[in-house]
Amino acid sequence: TLAACAGGGAGSEPEASGTAGGGGGEVEAGGTIGVAMPTQTSERWIADGDAVQSGLEDAGFEVDLQFAGDDIPTQSQQIDNMITNGVKALIIAAIDGTALSQQLQAAADAGIPVISYDRLIRDSENVDFYVTFDNYNVGVQQATSLLVGLGVLNADGTEGDAAGPFNVELFAGSLDDNNAHFFWQGAIDTLQPYLDSGVLVVPSGQVDIEQAATQRWQQETAQKRMEDLLTANYVGTDNEVHGVLSPYDGLSRGIITALQNDGYSGTVTDGFPVVTGQDAEIASVKLIADGVQFATIFKDTRKLAEQAVVAATAYLNGEEPEANDTETYDNGVKVVPSYLLESDIVYADNIQSLLIDSGYWTEEQVASGV
Ligand code: BGC
Repeated sequence: TLAACAGGGAGSEPEASGTAGGGGGEVEAGGTIGVAMPTQTSERWIADGDAVQSGLEDAGFEVDLQFAGDDIPTQSQQIDNMITNGVKALIIAAIDGTALSQQLQAAADAGIPVISYDRLIRDSENVDFYVTFDNYNVGVQQATSLLVGLGVLNADGTEGDAAGPFNVELFAGSLDDNNAHFFWQGAIDTLQPYLDSGVLVVPSGQVDIEQAATQRWQQETAQKRMEDLLTANYVGTDNEVHGVLSPYDGLSRGIITALQNDGYSGTVTDGFPVVTGQDAEIASVKLIADGVQFATIFKDTRKLAEQAVVAATAYLNGEEPEANDTETYDNGVKVVPSYLLESDIVYADNIQSLLIDSGYWTEEQVASGV
């Protein structure tokens, strides 16, 4: 668990004592670590904040946890305050990955290590470490789940029977979030052969990330775009939507609402379009259990929080955290040493094994959707 792991990192591997050289040794208890999260409108960030906070507290730190309501100046201000208050380390999930250079310079000047959390902070050399998921692979998984839902692929990855052509529309996340580009690239690389062969068709023609993007990942924005796509390309024609690539459950729910308002009904089994997702948010997990949303991607935020705690603890012990990837995440100035976690595709038939058995959601939560 988080507590056991963080505690182990801080206390159970004492440095050889009495040797010359100074650095290392026990973490000084009582220091505060600043944790900056983007927003509370998405439940994952609330869970991330809680898990990072309790992990750090179990490791003997105090925590200044702030959410910024998806407002860039608010987040900058919160981080400024943390630096002024003398935090020992910063853990930051940025709203706009390019907006924090000034804060990070101040942190570097004050000798405060900076851990980029889930989203890469760009355009600054003062990012020390990055904990995240394999974001390109998340995009591959999203596209894979779309293809599985359409029957183009089988769940085991082998070619399925369905030959199409299928009408699909594509959504991307917020362009100021580095992850959105990784998700998109992984998805497009996976879909491209089927777009080239005509198995998949995008009736709107909107196949660039700029056209597909959803500013700040907002559900209403995705719902509005889906409504517009339906009006412009489907309503009054013989075209039907067969699938929608969505990179986040909040967007998926907006897309599903737009489809339902336009008369699409029932479940995927009886022809409701295949809609993908990400984050295994409880409302979407229920929709998957009900057969309305087809799939989501589960990223275990407890494990990510644990890695952030491990990394922060390492710095405060005078050590470097251990990376498992040192080539992928170029932030425009440097390649940031990273610790990447794996994600899983959730379908109706593995909700139990992935989400309930692991304690992420209870059976009651899945049944009620809250
Ligand atoms: C995260 C996703 C999340 C999205 C919207 C991304 O940076 O990696 O898990 O769905 O932001 O909050």
